[in-house]
Amino acid sequence: MRCPFCAAQDTRVLDSRLANEGDQVRRRRECNICKERFTTYEAAELTLPRIIKRDGIREPFDDNKLRSGMIKALEKRPVASDDIEAAIHRIKKQLLAKGEREIPAQEVGEKVMKELNSLDHVAFVRFASVYRSFQDVSEFTDIIEHLQKK
Ligand SMILES: [Zn+2]
Repeated sequence: MRCPFCAAQDTRVLDSRLANEGDQVRRRRECNICKERFTTYEAAELTLPRIIKRDGIREPFDDNKLRSGMIKALEKRPVASDDIEAAIHRIKKQLLAKGEREIPAQEVGEKVMKELNSLDHVAFVRFASVYRSFQDVSEFTDIIEHLQKK
C-alpha cells in the first residue's frame, strides 16, 4: 500500500493484529523510503450498497421498500410471511456478498423477480409487469423463459 507521507509504494507491515473485537485487522506499516510509520485498518465491507435509480439518483438501500413491493405483488396469494422474509434475506445476502458500494436498481429488481418467480408465479407476473416498462410482449416472455431455465 502507498505511503500517505511520500506516496512511495514501497511500504512494509511491521505488525498485524486483530482489532475491534476481531472485526478488523490493524496493521502497523513503515515506509521503506521516508521511514514514516502509519496504521491501516482492514474490515469486511458489510454495508448494503446504495441504489442507483434509472435517472441516476442514488438512494440508500431500503428494506421496507423492498418488502412492501414484494408484499404488494403477493397480495391475496398463498405465500407465508416467513417465506417472504427468507427471500428478502437471500436478496440482501447476495447484495452484501457483491461488496459493491452502489448497485443499479435494475439489478435489485431482477433479484426480486427471481425470488418471486420461485415463490409464486402470479406474483412474479404482477411485479414484473409493473417493475419493467416492457418494450413489447416478447421481451417479457424472454425474461420469464430465462428465469425458468435457471
Ligand atoms: Zn514514505
